[in-house]
Amino acid sequence: MGGLSVDPTTFFRSDGKRVSGRAVDELRPVKIEAHVLENAPGSCYLEWGKNKIVAAVFGPRECHPRHQQRQDRAVVRATYNMNAFSVEDRKRPGLDRRSQEISKVVSEALAAVVLTAPFPRTAIDVYMEVLQADAGTRCAALTAAAVAVADAGIPMTELVAAVASGKVGGTVVLDLDKYEDNAGEADLPMGITSRTHRVVLMQMDGNFTTEQYHQALDYNFAAAGVLHEKQRDALRSRYQTVAARQPQEGGAEAEDPGASSEEE
Ligand code: UDP
Repeated sequence: MGGLSVDPTTFFRSDGKRVSGRAVDELRPVKIEAHVLENAPGSCYLEWGKNKIVAAVFGPRECHPRHQQRQDRAVVRATYNMNAFSVEDRKRPGLDRRSQEISKVVSEALAAVVLTAPFPRTAIDVYMEVLQADAGTRCAALTAAAVAVADAGIPMTELVAAVASGKVGGTVVLDLDKYEDNAGEADLPMGITSRTHRVVLMQMDGNFTTEQYHQALDYNFAAAGVLHEKQRDALRSRYQTVAARQPQEGGAEAEDPGASSEEE
């Protein structure tokens, strides 16, 4: 975030729309697909504007190193990685402070919706790979990760989606792209749950007036509702695909596995 330029014409057209053609409260196009990887129990591919993210989930499985185990619950360990080729200037590979920070806040957000108590001493590992970045990747990564966790069949109390609002040229706008983020004056990413509408991730750069802050909250809550619906759609179509496949793959037994095991 630059914060130097405040000339509104840099960000807004004469019709009040942003240079990208979006309205101030308009999300970039979002596409979510569940179960895209063969070798992970749960996965998700998400495109959000120019952001492209894949998430994979493993577990609950034995927790190594053992000192990370918790006697009363599973630990949720999320790892966010930005690929070297995901940004314009090559990103130096490996863990840096930014990815550690994002991994931590995403782990905590997911732990707030995953039922960890039934799986003591285990780990639930969530990997998020940013293939292409255009600002808002922590939100996109958490949104994808939640779908991947659900796809893995791990019990959750509800879904979580994340979105940011920010300020450009003195105006609050939803979902900054990289162009806006570069010179943005504030940024407020939030993770919001789908049923109880809890805020499970919240970070802020820059500054808002009280009024602008409330506007940003309103934009984020409304957009999270849209994202929750897209997450549900992705999971629904995943299970419709599974249901449609079952009779061919397993015949009558696959339709009612409980009945067949009782006969044995
Ligand atoms: N970015 C980059 N190189 C980096 C880190 C970030 O080019 O090493 C870009 C990338 O497009 C990212 C954006 O800057 O999406 C904003 O980064 P920020 O740290 O604000 O996180 P994000 O908005 O992606 O959650």
